[in-house]
Amino acid sequence: MAETLKEKAPARRRAVLPIFSDATPWSLAWIAGAALVVFFAPAFAEVFLLEKIARFYIVALGLNLLVGYAGQVSLGHAGFYALGAYTSGILSARLGIPLFVTFPLAIVVAAAAGALLALPALRVRGPYLAMVTIAFGLVIEIAANRLVGLTGGPDGMSVPRPRLGDYRLLMVDYWYLIAAVALLGQVIANNLTSSRIGRTLLALRGSEIAAETVGVNVYRWKVLAFALSAGFAGLAGAFFAHRPATGFLNTTSFQFDESILFLVIVILGGAGTRWGPLVGALIMALLQEALATQAELRLIVYGAVLLLSLVIAPDGIVGTLQRLPALARLRRPPALPDTVPAWGGVAHALDRQDQPLLTSRGLTKDFGGVRAVNDVDMQVMPGKIHALIGPNGAGKSTVVNLITGIYTPTAGTITYRGEQVNALAPHALARRGATRTFQNLQLFPDLSVLEHVMVGFHTELRAGLGQHMLGTARAAAEEERYTERALALLEMVGLRGRALEVATNLPYGDQRRLEIARALAVEPVFLLLDEPAAGVNPTEVQALSELIERIRAAGVTILVIEHHMDMVMQISDHIVVLDFGRKIAEGMPAEIQANPEVIAAYLGTEENFGIDLENGLEAGA
Ligand code: ADP
Ligand code: MG
Repeated sequence: MAETLKEKAPARRRAVLPIFSDATPWSLAWIAGAALVVFFAPAFAEVFLLEKIARFYIVALGLNLLVGYAGQVSLGHAGFYALGAYTSGILSARLGIPLFVTFPLAIVVAAAAGALLALPALRVRGPYLAMVTIAFGLVIEIAANRLVGLTGGPDGMSVPRPRLGDYRLLMVDYWYLIAAVALLGQVIANNLTSSRIGRTLLALRGSEIAAETVGVNVYRWKVLAFALSAGFAGLAGAFFAHRPATGFLNTTSFQFDESILFLVIVILGGAGTRWGPLVGALIMALLQEALATQAELRLIVYGAVLLLSLVIAPDGIVGTLQRLPALARLRRPPALPDTVPAWGGVAHALDRQDQPLLTSRGLTKDFGGVRAVNDVDMQVMPGKIHALIGPNGAGKSTVVNLITGIYTPTAGTITYRGEQVNALAPHALARRGATRTFQNLQLFPDLSVLEHVMVGFHTELRAGLGQHMLGTARAAAEEERYTERALALLEMVGLRGRALEVATNLPYGDQRRLEIARALAVEPVFLLLDEPAAGVNPTEVQALSELIERIRAAGVTILVIEHHMDMVMQISDHIVVLDFGRKIAEGMPAEIQANPEVIAAYLGTEENFGIDLENGLEAGA
């Protein structure tokens, strides 16, 4: 069925150049327009200023990926900019290496430094991360000042002017070159942000924990974002070093205020927007030029601009404009296929049916003085629905957090598919087919319903950074294929009609089902649902039970925490009851219902059985 639909779909025309794989007349018109502006700009403005705008623009394109997408901060980007400048400057001046080699090397060195800095720096967060990046910027600045033999220090060094064969590039030629590179940078940034790379970054910014549970190695992706953004800064630095009019490089341009400037460009223009870097670079380059003779005022002015921007337009200029109704209407929603194949279930080899999929022994978790989980032995059999019940605070969510790697046990062991998994991170468990939903919803505020499911496919997608950077036909085809699969999943949970809505605007019940769809995209072997019916409209609870049974029928083993007792009794094959962190009973639904200890601790008298203990709603006995 799925195959026939795919075969009938008309093949989309693709342009020859991979980078324009989704080129439309519109985007070609854009490129033509941009070329005209670049060509005629020198008639209206100083080329020095134009070159500066383009240079800031390149830095901002990269920094936007870090700040606007990955949600990290850097107050040390002048350090990467300096590294790029000195890499190209020193290699060309001292070793005579041509610029078409030193420029790419400047990118590589800066990106490598970005990754190296990020490795330790990303172990800390927020203000601490900001401090580490400030320190990095200072270290580079001081090193450049001290390594006089290499950099010429504050007195500077002379740097070869760019040439093409025997022809020495004039400032205006240099402008055409940097403008072309900047526009290419924009195309690359667009390709990245509109692909799974941008989606993954926005996801980890929205909820690191949820991103992890679909298989995203959050730490590695943050390092990647750092490296990418540092690479852009390194490239801009190389351009700075070789400006034809100067032929000279010293350390005064790599001070702290330059790092602030870069950040202000991104935030003023609009972090996380497509054209924010250009708008920000334009304004701030003009402002910096206006302050050329009053360098001591720069930090104050940048600070004031930042403050004003954050107060008046926290989304930046472009972000604010985009929300104006008149402009919002211009944006066309992406076209989705009219027909989608039916959900094909999960394609994984079922584990041996007679062996437990998961075993815990003596599982214990302490939080300070609180023993949240106490010596719990549990077995989960493949292909079954297991329920975990008990009063609030009994330790149910903690058990799920332990199994999915969010917490490590204080004592005891967890064995999953024959492997001891105590110390595995959530993303590693996701790769082994164990994923989950959350009692406190963990959706990604920046992503649409469809994009949530697309993020869920993380471990399956094959097109990598390079492919998406260039927007190759292969990457585009993969996106298309998975969009179809995502829609099929959404159809199954009843959300296909809302695919393009912002997920966090959905009604509560829809959000819960979206979390299930996202988890199913992982193709789980083992799905853990933490109170999937909490806060859900009572009439939807039955549909939810059916959905869970359908997922089990597809071969997925399920562990569900629930307070809706009629649902638990209807769907579970086996129930474990927790109270004060201890397992007080386990067995088939009928046994649990009759167990006096369970009735005393949780279910209460038989009369009030059937009442949703959490919400006090009559769920129907
Ligand atoms: P349940 O899901 O059964 O309602 P939880 O597993 O959420 O219970 O919590 C069990 C106990 O552990 C509670 O007393 C709770 O306050 C405590 N607890 C859970 N997570 C943490 C945490 N991260 N830090 C401190 N205490 C926690
Ligand atoms: Mg809980």
